[in-house]
Amino acid sequence: MIPYSRQKIEEDDIQAVVDVLRSDYITTGPRIAEFEKRVADYVGAGYAVAVANGTAALHAACFAAGIAPGDEVITTPITFAASANCIMYCGGRPVFADIDPKTYNIDPEDIKRKITDKTKAVIPVHLAGQPCDMDAIQKIAEEYHLLVIEDGAHALGSEYKGKRIGSISDMTTFSFHPVKPITTGEGGIIVTDKEELYQKLCLFRSHGITREDSLMTRNEGPWFYQQMELGYNYRITDVQCALGCSQMNKLDKFLERRRELARRYHRAFQDCPDIIVPYQLHDANSGWHLYIIQVLHCDRKNVFETLREKGIGVNVHYIPVYYHPYYREHGYQEVCCPNAEKLYEQMISIPLHPSLSNGQQDYIIQTIKDTLGNL
Ligand SMILES: *Cc1c(COP(=O)(O)O)cnc(C)c1O
Repeated sequence: MIPYSRQKIEEDDIQAVVDVLRSDYITTGPRIAEFEKRVADYVGAGYAVAVANGTAALHAACFAAGIAPGDEVITTPITFAASANCIMYCGGRPVFADIDPKTYNIDPEDIKRKITDKTKAVIPVHLAGQPCDMDAIQKIAEEYHLLVIEDGAHALGSEYKGKRIGSISDMTTFSFHPVKPITTGEGGIIVTDKEELYQKLCLFRSHGITREDSLMTRNEGPWFYQQMELGYNYRITDVQCALGCSQMNKLDKFLERRRELARRYHRAFQDCPDIIVPYQLHDANSGWHLYIIQVLHCDRKNVFETLREKGIGVNVHYIPVYYHPYYREHGYQEVCCPNAEKLYEQMISIPLHPSLSNGQQDYIIQTIKDTLGNL
């Protein structure tokens, strides 16, 4: 099966991990700060806090944003459940705004319609690596005094109007799960320019505990520390961050290959009457985490099963979050975002990752065309 995505690990990645295993630190050591600096510098942010995974990054960001019971936070239904779960972790209530049917990203106009006096923040998700309309979202956030937390799990290296994702909003989170643009096995990071948020994120990552004089109420000696908040153990390890540093060396190469493969898909499918290819934003440069097509005039399930039978690891990103039984049971049974629901019926993610060969891609293209032609 050709997977829809997968990690690309080479000998130098392996060597970097082995070197750490032979060093003094395998949990919290020097590699963490090094990896944080690499990511912060790359995206153009002042601070970065690396954590155990992308979901922990979102949880930490919601905590630092002060999300608490009674607060509402607006996000998209076409995302992985974690983008909404993180709000629930803090006792807040996710409110789903519909997507723009062209870009598949959250529609700023619908964000506006969903704002109430309880709304505290917005979590836009750059689906597939395509940047959201951040100018419009920032404008709304300023007008209504909302924090913006970008879920950039798909968007490390994506650019919006010449700016890298991670340099725009109050906070941006990334994931380093093996299917994402680079990997640390499990891992995540939050970037921000605000020192106050950075301090909260650092506390949250490690039990709410600090040893810093400036943050403690008193200091009884060299052994002393204080717990200031209810934090978690969301720490990442030096072993993971060594892999992360090594992967950062290759990010631009990975992105280049993803963009080339996306162009090849685009050329192959743009004239097919049964396929809608991803919309090409003119003012953004996607990192192409996913290549999502819509299949028309056919039964999506049938196409999906046929492609899987032919060894093509297609997937669907995503089931609208509020369709899940947990959400249905928590007051979302009446929620309806028509554009999201229509997209969900027709969408298929086809393989796209840096190690996909042109030959494999040609096979995928031909098989999709044959399958749609024969149904
Ligand atoms: C992968 C992903 C996450 C969660 O990241 P993990 O590292 O798997 O916890 C959150 N949001 C989106 C959109 C994702 O794709």
